[in-house]
Amino acid sequence: MFNKILIANRGEIALRIHRACREMGIRTVAIHSEADADAMHVRLADEAVCIGAAPANQSYLNIPAILSAAEITGADAIHPGYGFMSENAGFASIVADHGITFIGPTAEHINTMGDKIEAKVTVKKHGIPVVPGSDGAIESMEHGKEIAAEIGYPVLVKASSGGGGRGMKIAETEADLETAISTAKSEALAAFGDDVIYLEKYLGKPRHIEVQILADSHGNVIHLGERDCSLQRRHQKVLEEAPSPVLTAEQRDEIGETVREAIGAMGYLGAGTIEFLYEDGGFYFIEMNTRLQVEHPVTEMITGIDIVREQIRIAQGLPLAVKQEDIQFNGHAIECRINAEHPRTFAPNPGKVQDFHQPGGLRVRVDSALYTGYSIPPYYDSLIAKLIVKGEDRQDCLLRLRRALEEFVVGGVETTIPLHQELVENEDVIAGNYDIHWLEHYLENLPD
Ligand code: ADP
Repeated sequence: MFNKILIANRGEIALRIHRACREMGIRTVAIHSEADADAMHVRLADEAVCIGAAPANQSYLNIPAILSAAEITGADAIHPGYGFMSENAGFASIVADHGITFIGPTAEHINTMGDKIEAKVTVKKHGIPVVPGSDGAIESMEHGKEIAAEIGYPVLVKASSGGGGRGMKIAETEADLETAISTAKSEALAAFGDDVIYLEKYLGKPRHIEVQILADSHGNVIHLGERDCSLQRRHQKVLEEAPSPVLTAEQRDEIGETVREAIGAMGYLGAGTIEFLYEDGGFYFIEMNTRLQVEHPVTEMITGIDIVREQIRIAQGLPLAVKQEDIQFNGHAIECRINAEHPRTFAPNPGKVQDFHQPGGLRVRVDSALYTGYSIPPYYDSLIAKLIVKGEDRQDCLLRLRRALEEFVVGGVETTIPLHQELVENEDVIAGNYDIHWLEHYLENLPD
């Protein structure tokens, strides 16, 4: 059994992991940068170690400093959360080399899924449907043109090492393709140090639907249904919900089972998410995230399963606490990502929180590390809170979300709460009628 877990993250997710550990009787070690000495995750942890200066590459991405903190405190395991070290295969293997358990999949699986071409080839081999496109890298301009002609325009040029929505270019015609390929290659080289690109059919009006899975070392794999994360701005999710308003129970079971079988055959270990675009009844794999996701609470709300607790159990070599046939999906849950940003321009707005009051009541959950008097540092992601609510059904959930947003007070900094308040009143949102481009169009068409 783990006695002590080092949480290699900050903010709301560090708190989320701390909570699971405490409920399991496990002590926690917080690491923090100089800018985060007053952070809530530092206050709540049993022990805290300052590991470097404010910029993330000197602290939360500083492998020797994180390892030293683990050694000094005698931590048995490291939970990376999301972002930072969570999908760094090198880190996962160095941690293991030091006799510390990395709470996540093997370095090999992180590597495979981190290379988008390899990921696509691997999941396709195991029966997961993928977006039509080049089955591997594009070798030359001629090769690109051939593939594009086969799959039909518009096409999307993607970087194999891409991430965070970067390194993608749309080509509507063969003439566009030349520019798209050359700019995608040079941008990918600059951003990721790798100019390998591939081609995919560009889907015009898909939804983003992802399937949560958990796999233990005893051969058990379960899926926890899907999340619909179609409301996005610049490929970043803004609001997520479970279940998806457009899937039937049969479609859910079918895609869940397909993913479950593939994950079992791949010998995957831990929590993971398979992301799909969904259009006209078809699922098309885009990527697999080999870590805990920001939006995991909506799944927890409708299944009652603590995903972080399961991650820790799996890392300890224990079997999953639940079987597929025990899982029931109850009601509907929605999460709003609240950022310290201007609700129209999305300019980051860090600073001192003068006033903080979070909503409460039945079926309302807030994951946040804010408190009155806290100064949000300018160095990190602008996500400051996640508001997650549950209802008996989607309409009930939206009504509760509306009242919870009304109660939420974050004084002293601009936040995206007003944007969420508009969204929950919007006809298309209420009807569940949107694709991944809906929010961008909505924002473009707002009066000045
Ligand atoms: P990243 O790793 O950079 O997030 P993804 O492959 O997950 O890249 O794609 C990010 C986003 O780009 C998706 O959520 C979707 O909005 C859009 N996208 C990706 N592939 C396609 C496609 N074939 N057609 C249309 N949109 C796409």
